[in-house]
Order: sequence, then C-alpha cells, then structure tokens
Amino acid sequence: MSRFFSDKFKNLKSYVPGEQPKDRSYIKLNTNESPYPPSKGVMSAVADEAKDLMLYSDPDCKKLVDAFCKVYKIDAGRVVFGNGSDEILNFAFMAFSDDKRPLAFADITYGFYPVFANLSSIPYEEIPLNENFEICVDDYIGINKNIVIANPNAPTGIALPLCDIERIVRSNPDNIIIVDEAYVDFGGESAVGLTEKYSNLLVVGTFSKSRSLAGGRLGFGVGCQELISDLNTIRFSTNPYNINRMTMSAGAAALSENLYYMDNANKIIKTREYVKNSLQEMGFEVTDSSANFLFARSYEIAGEELYLKLKESGVLIRHFTKDRIKEYNRITIGTREEMDTFLLKTKKILEEKRHEKL
Ligand SMILES: *Cc1c(COP(=O)(O)O)cnc(C)c1O
Repeated sequence: MSRFFSDKFKNLKSYVPGEQPKDRSYIKLNTNESPYPPSKGVMSAVADEAKDLMLYSDPDCKKLVDAFCKVYKIDAGRVVFGNGSDEILNFAFMAFSDDKRPLAFADITYGFYPVFANLSSIPYEEIPLNENFEICVDDYIGINKNIVIANPNAPTGIALPLCDIERIVRSNPDNIIIVDEAYVDFGGESAVGLTEKYSNLLVVGTFSKSRSLAGGRLGFGVGCQELISDLNTIRFSTNPYNINRMTMSAGAAALSENLYYMDNANKIIKTREYVKNSLQEMGFEVTDSSANFLFARSYEIAGEELYLKLKESGVLIRHFTKDRIKEYNRITIGTREEMDTFLLKTKKILEEKRHEKL
C-alpha cells in the first residue's frame, strides 16, 4: 500500500475472482462460464463492429435496448446495461444504500456483495441461511433494510419461488429489493414481470452465464423508470461509454438468437441432473441446484483436498474457505464429456482415499 492510499479504503478487502491459471490446460469448472461458444451471429457482429472502433460507443445503447425489450417484453425506459452485472450491482448499491438505508443479504451468497458495500461505506447485515443452506423468507419480511438476494443463490444453487420474492418486496415498500438473477435461465423463476407492479424492485441479470458472453462483460438491470433513471445518473457520472461497441453488438446479436442460448441452458440442466445423480451415488451430499453449477461435499474427503487433487489432475473446481462451507466445492456444469472426465477423476480420488484408510 502506498502512503497516498485514502484512509477510507485502507481496510478494503477486494474481491478474489476464481483462478485462471495458465500453467497448463485445465477442464475449467470453477467460474460458472458457459462451455458453449457464442452463436455465429455474435461472432460476425463483433467482427463487423471492429471497423468503427475509432468512434465512441452509443451511451444510450439503443440497439441493445431495442433487442432486449423485444425479448423481455418491457418498455425501453426500464432497462440499463452495465459492464457485467457486477457494475449494475455496484451502481445500485451506490444509488440506493447509505447509513440511513443499510443493506441485508445472506451469510452464504455472492462474495461481491460485502465488497461493494464496503467500497461505498454501506453498513450491512448478513442473515444466516438455515442449516440446509436455504433462505428463511421470514427473516426478510418487513426488516426495513435494502435487500439483495441472488436467486438462484450462489454458491448453493438453491432458488426461491417467485411468491417468496414477492412477499419480501411487498413487506418492505420503503426499501429497494435487488434480485440478482445471474442463474435464472437454468431453472429459476424470473421476477422481471413483477417490476411492473413494484417500484421498489430491481432485477439484475447477466449475459455471462447462459449467454456465453462472460468475456464480453454485459449485464443489465430492470426496474421501474425512476429506478433506472437513478442508475443512469450514476452511470453517466462514472462512465457513459461503459458498454463498448463490440459488446453492444454482441449482446444485440445474442438476443436475436435467444433460442440457441435457451437450448444450451436446457442441455446444461440435463447434464447437471446427470452429474448430481452420479455424485450422490458416490456418497456426495449435493444441494438442489437451479443453476449451472452444483454445490457438493463428501464425508470421505475434505473439500480442500478434493479441490487440490482434482487440480493436480487437470480439473479446476471452486473451493471456498469460509468456515460454514469449507467442506463443499462448487462445480460448474460443463459439457457432458467434461463432466464425465470430472466424475471419473473424482471417483478415482475417492477410491485412493478409501485405500489409504485401509
Ligand atoms: C457471475 C455472477 C454475477 C456477475 O456476473 P458478471 O459477469 O459481472 O455479469 C453476479 N451475480 C452472481 C450471483 C454471479 O454468480
């Protein structure tokens, strides 16, 4: 740390992204990317756009807004785009939370929430999930705090039904409820439809998971016009060109080829259920995931040991060190072939472990 670093950031613990090691090639099941490439239209749209790179991108994102509103059936003033949904989350925390309106979120959820809260000096409360890693909806009823909920939750994959989201939104009418739907296309119920009815609901989504655009960095927020206008005030005070030309074209093309992505999401759901059953047969405890990953533990091998042994054998999964979940790993669902390799290596590691104990 330099002696110039502002006091207000001295204790900031920044987010630690999943590792992207370059020492060898790995089967990457650690950052919830799609195993499927972008659609053809996306690739050609990106190539076409390159010739205009000397020009700034459109700060109103008109092409993207139009394509989005067609698929999501909303009015143009009700969506804002971000450089990844992480940026929208940061904007929303900045725009709506402060000392007077603190935040609440689950103790086990997306690791960026506390980072963004600390970055903007927003006080927050962590509400524990129950012993099955489920959100207790009653803990969020009428709490008079802004709330952010990942639905489906990460890293557990467990989803809340829409009626529970609605209860939470309705019982906190003077607070903003942010629903982070990064994984909704893998089996969750979207709250986008509820944003017409509730002016305190902001739904955040991303093109990084189901739409194969993690490297393009594109996310969105949907809410009532006033909320979106506030987020645009923050966006235009930060970086009005936050969506670069190539990503804007890629996003619009992806929306026009939406079926390709929803087909891929369905393939991933099928593979997920297959892997879940296989892991359960090996004695793993696996949460009920509605996302493109599984959250699993074995009673025969420590979470960290399994993660390290898989890494040694060329398969990356995500291990968390937080006490409550340190025996678990989060396993992104790749192609069927990748998952068969993962299952085979896991089986072998477990067999070796049993052998050691004899
Ligand atoms: C991946 C993820 C995001 C953010 O993704 P971006 O790539 O920034 O769009 C947001 N929330 C959750 C819960 C995620 O897992």
